[in-house]
Amino acid sequence: MPTTHRIYNFAAGPAVLPMPVLEEIQRDLVALPRVGMSILEISHRSQTLESIMAAAEADIRALAHIPDTYRVLFLQGGASLQFSMVPMNLLDADSVADYVDAGLFADKAIEEARKVGRVHIAASTKAERYARIPDQSEMTFSPDAAYVHITSNNTIEGTQYRRLPDVGAVPLVSDTSSDMFSRPLDISRHALVYAGAQKNMGPAGVTLVIIRDDLVRSSASRKASLPTMMSYAVLAEHRSLYNTPPAFAIYVLGLVMKWLLAQGGLPAIAQVNERKAAALYAEIDRTGFYRGTAAVADRSLMNVTFRLGTEDLEKQFVADAAAAGMDGLKGHRAVGGIRASIYNAFPEEGVAALVAFMKEFERRHG
Ligand code: PMP
Repeated sequence: MPTTHRIYNFAAGPAVLPMPVLEEIQRDLVALPRVGMSILEISHRSQTLESIMAAAEADIRALAHIPDTYRVLFLQGGASLQFSMVPMNLLDADSVADYVDAGLFADKAIEEARKVGRVHIAASTKAERYARIPDQSEMTFSPDAAYVHITSNNTIEGTQYRRLPDVGAVPLVSDTSSDMFSRPLDISRHALVYAGAQKNMGPAGVTLVIIRDDLVRSSASRKASLPTMMSYAVLAEHRSLYNTPPAFAIYVLGLVMKWLLAQGGLPAIAQVNERKAAALYAEIDRTGFYRGTAAVADRSLMNVTFRLGTEDLEKQFVADAAAAGMDGLKGHRAVGGIRASIYNAFPEEGVAALVAFMKEFERRHG
């Protein structure tokens, strides 16, 4: 089999990257043009890496219209470290943060925040196995909350906010790990967004944090009591170069940003994502053989979750799909079922292939 043979990768993350990005990495891996060294080898104090980071930041700002009042940070530790850094930088032991509990990752974020300060659950759909996003009318916010935390897309459960909750003047913090840059981002409604790169932006190893200046200032007031590497103020002050940054991951993220701009930016990629998700949900809803697990109004455009009649049939589905060149369709181990993750770089032909496979599987087993 030639090494360029590729299957359709429906994994939830790390996930598929754009083919032109992989080809550029491959072409330039041994020596970056005009540098003569690999991105894997260059010093983090080199002009080359500084330029790569500056270009990635400029493209992120252009893509999502990020104004100068926000810092763009390239951090490590995954979104999971942000579960801790957000409260450590923004919350005190005797102050309160509001969390919307709409998925298993929100739950993990809540657990970490509770180690730092008080947590008020603004709304929860845990009792409904997180099958939907709570409505604004169900949310109760603390008037004095340090921030409100949401998870814009629930990767495991396959739900996604269609509209941001109205949180008034309280800073809104969003874990956008699984839908970052998949649609336009209204940064003015957010005080901080964070996302691991490994779904929509690049490989694992870098976490994008976009943080408003006033939150950096709040973080600065806690600088003395925080581990240095966990202080937004320190990391912002050193422009993500306090220590050795994950150069390769940032480089790839930068290439993905260029690819996104070339696709026409966020409104254009959002249209493609809507089309891909609509095709899959239409097949799920066609006869009742497949059963979508998320409330229809809150269905994710990124992670399409569904079940079949029995677990045996689901196992068969995953195995037959793998044999047909479609990998990564097994649902998260916490919830079971099937999950098709169709992030920005997932090709439309791959969705068409899955829809055709689903029809054929139903014909054989329905
Ligand atoms: N939040 C969400 C919504 C996620 O999907 C994930 C990873 N699947 C995480 C947080 C944890 O991210 P990481 O593995 O980068 O720590």
